[in-house]
Amino acid sequence: MQLRRDPITQSWVNLEDEGENLPIREDAPCPLCPGQGGLSPQTLYEYPGGGSSWQVRVTPHLRPIYRIEGDAQRRAEGIYDKMRSLGAHEVVVENPSHNLQLSQLTNENVAQVLRAYIARVKDLKKDRRFRYVTVFRNHGALAGGEIEHPHSEITATPFIPRRVGYELRSSMRYFELKERCLTCDIAGQEIAQKIRIVDQLGSFVAFCPFASRVPYETWLLPLKHNSSFEEDLTDWDQQLCFARLLKSVLLRLETVAPTYHLVLHSSPNLAAKFQSEGIWRTLEDDYHWHVEILPVLPSKAKSYALKEVYYNSLLPEIAAQTLRNARI
Ligand SMILES: [Zn+2]
Ligand SMILES: [Zn+2]
Ligand SMILES: [Zn+2]
Repeated sequence: MQLRRDPITQSWVNLEDEGENLPIREDAPCPLCPGQGGLSPQTLYEYPGGGSSWQVRVTPHLRPIYRIEGDAQRRAEGIYDKMRSLGAHEVVVENPSHNLQLSQLTNENVAQVLRAYIARVKDLKKDRRFRYVTVFRNHGALAGGEIEHPHSEITATPFIPRRVGYELRSSMRYFELKERCLTCDIAGQEIAQKIRIVDQLGSFVAFCPFASRVPYETWLLPLKHNSSFEEDLTDWDQQLCFARLLKSVLLRLETVAPTYHLVLHSSPNLAAKFQSEGIWRTLEDDYHWHVEILPVLPSKAKSYALKEVYYNSLLPEIAAQTLRNARI
């Protein structure tokens, strides 16, 4: 694998060298089920379950996009930039049972999965080679879920992913202009208007964004401002509350759009090498962590496959109403 930078958009692209990743054999045993430790021997994090088993386990990915060893070896090829695909790629096995989905776990178990995210993000941010840590979940084969066993993934990269980069820049600009957080303002207006709200629990809210890119796109975020997920969700009550909201949203989505991408957007690694401090001066005040869920609907998959301009056939006001009224 190698990373190349698009000189125009400045975004990094992962390129796979030919024949590097062989497909997983379909008759092979599930590498994430308990007892298959031989296939993924290293445990990066574990929350013990009953008996000899674990409840949540984090291991290195069996077919990582990024490799943890060495440094990025940034180099030029004429005017172009490239580097090694340095990074971490981990799997969060959400529970020992092969068929139990995240939405079917108890609130406590979902909160333990959040705790695993927090522990891993904190640990990976200690590595100064990494500028950003991404937590994501591809649910269902259409969303690119390769392994059946319910799991999330974590990557740590020497660059900030493109979409987060856009958000960081526009949050900073808004703050410069108004000395207020853009996302706090958005959440405030959504709560006042109510029409796009999906659910609200304690100090967390879920809503369909005003310019939803895909049908049933849903964001989850804290109403109390905080730029960093792992520094915000520190106590068990908060973790449990956010877990309850996440479960509620996933159950609602499953009634209309069971396949989805979920991604956590949070503050970059401020301790990273060469991370220019100057530009992150107001980050703690201007950036606001959130979770984005983007459903993948089979019939519409083609219309936004090009990603040049998003085409969404469903108004977020109607999507939110459907999700609010879903029987769960
Ligand atoms: Zn399994
Ligand atoms: Zn905010
Ligand atoms: Zn975002």
